[in-house]
Amino acid sequence: MKFSKLAQVFEKIEKTSSRLAITHLLSDLFTKLNNVEIEKTAYLLQGRVAPLYETTEFRIAEKMVIKSILFALNLDRSLFIKEYEKKGDLGIAVEHFKNQYPSLEEKDLDITHVYEDLKRLALAEGAKSQEIKVGILAHLIRQLDPLSCRFLVRIPLSMLRLGFSDMTVLDAYSWMMTGDKSLRKKIEDVYHVRPDLGQIGRLLKEKGIITLRHVSPRIFTPVIMMRAERLSSGEEIIEKIGRCSIEPKYDGFRLQAHYLKNKNELRLFSRNLDDVSYMYPDIVEGIKKEVKCEEIIFEGEAVGFDPNTGNFLPFQETVQRKRKYDIEEKIKEIPLKFFSFELLYLDGESYINVPFHQRREKLEKAVDGKKDVYKDTVLIASNTVTDDAKKIELLFDEMVTKGLEGIVAKKLDGVYQAGARGWNWIKFKRSYSSKIEDTIDCLVMGYDYGRGKRAKFGIGAFLAGVYDEKEDKYVTVAKIGTGLTDEEWKDLKKKCDRFISSSKPALYEVDKAMAPDIWVKPFLVTEIKADEITRSPVHTAGRLMKSSKNGKGQEVEKAGLALRFPRLVRFRDDKRPEDTTTLKELEEMYKAATHHK
Ligand code: ATP
Repeated sequence: MKFSKLAQVFEKIEKTSSRLAITHLLSDLFTKLNNVEIEKTAYLLQGRVAPLYETTEFRIAEKMVIKSILFALNLDRSLFIKEYEKKGDLGIAVEHFKNQYPSLEEKDLDITHVYEDLKRLALAEGAKSQEIKVGILAHLIRQLDPLSCRFLVRIPLSMLRLGFSDMTVLDAYSWMMTGDKSLRKKIEDVYHVRPDLGQIGRLLKEKGIITLRHVSPRIFTPVIMMRAERLSSGEEIIEKIGRCSIEPKYDGFRLQAHYLKNKNELRLFSRNLDDVSYMYPDIVEGIKKEVKCEEIIFEGEAVGFDPNTGNFLPFQETVQRKRKYDIEEKIKEIPLKFFSFELLYLDGESYINVPFHQRREKLEKAVDGKKDVYKDTVLIASNTVTDDAKKIELLFDEMVTKGLEGIVAKKLDGVYQAGARGWNWIKFKRSYSSKIEDTIDCLVMGYDYGRGKRAKFGIGAFLAGVYDEKEDKYVTVAKIGTGLTDEEWKDLKKKCDRFISSSKPALYEVDKAMAPDIWVKPFLVTEIKADEITRSPVHTAGRLMKSSKNGKGQEVEKAGLALRFPRLVRFRDDKRPEDTTTLKELEEMYKAATHHK
């Protein structure tokens, strides 16, 4: 297929505000592609040339993209900048000039051709890399038609946000295969173990229907991490899962380690599947030295350690290790210890469907339980197996006294539920003074201009939403105007302004009364603390939508769920939009809180 045809689909997607229409546009597109094209197109749709978890970045600044445009079209800089400032969008500006000055070099290039060029651009390294990148981009700009150029220049700047989620793509794959969404669950199970949209598209074209039986974890492809359900007493835990393994809930950050000994290669992935190996050379070295196996995928929590006192550090200190610069200096100040707690793959065998107690046994052997916390880096999460609710409460109190967040209970015969928040893990966290015990991760959906003191920042509140997994939509729960320092407001605005959307993104369900001054595409997750979950007619979380009808065929609407006194705890750059708290969880928290009243 030609790239110009793909650009037309991009344009249609950009114009539609219906999620279903986007799904159909995508499935029509996928149907027309062959097995090679579908793989590359799946990456291009994400504005990339590789799966999300690969660190293939374009490493080209806006300044250099502008240089490519000027060079390609032989334009005067000030003329172009004037137009760019007027339009506020680099893609639209280049399209405008391409329309004005059609070039003789224009060719209808294939998607594969454009993809390969963009990949070369991303991979160019060394002293002359910037010149090479500018050259490749300029050549493409000269060759492609105006509409294609609009989308092309957004890709290397990571500005191609078409406003749908990976789940939309999985739905579209199902539509492509069966003409409905009946296959989505099976495809999604595969995606949780191999979150590579390109490869899944290709497998579907080549093999027809694929299921989890066709895939097992693969070294260097991160598995979407399992998450924990919540309960708030030992009794509830025992009632739910019976005899279980109780581990401390360490308060650091989760990492998934992939290690291939014979290549001496190790990668660490964060919750949102970023390759963060370069940030933690101490953990990389520790695993290489201390873990006994040929190849392994395992998970744990990285926690800062104070060698002077022998204490583990609170999250606020550990988090300082999450940095791109001055890494070596910080290692000395805040060395990390890696508490491993899950085994997913070991020496050619998948462990995700193996009962927890067996996974743990193997993990203990590979990591070697007897360790010196001062000398070693890789430790194993301590655990106690019990069926005594009181014992669980005691362990919980002990952890909280030690300054930890609480405990995680693990079902002894539970499997590793990739990508799911399942009952095989249950977290029991320190109860704060408010009625809702946990914080809520919300997506930033838009913001309002500030009034009064904040007017100077141009931002005074932001609209926050949770993820309705069933509908693949974001629904609102709060407008948040407190809990941020001046610096955080400025930072938030800067972050948001990169992803402004001129109209409401298709995946957002927002009441008119809550429409923000500026819409922001799905990208930024924040952790929110609130006093209570209440009902509110202006929020759309859990509000029955137009499609639901009462017995008489009339539309029914009830008040949605909303957060009372919401405030920002922190930005969660380690989470993807789909990782925000789900509507289902919020509904459960609401039920639990009203139950406890
Ligand atoms: P929270 O903000 O409560 O950590 P979350 O949404 O980040 O929640 P959850 O899956 O709900 O993540 O809680 C589990 C998290 O707890 C894991 O992601 C992991 O980082 C952390 N954790 C700490 N200790 C353990 C442990 N022993 N077993 C599993 N997870 C643990």
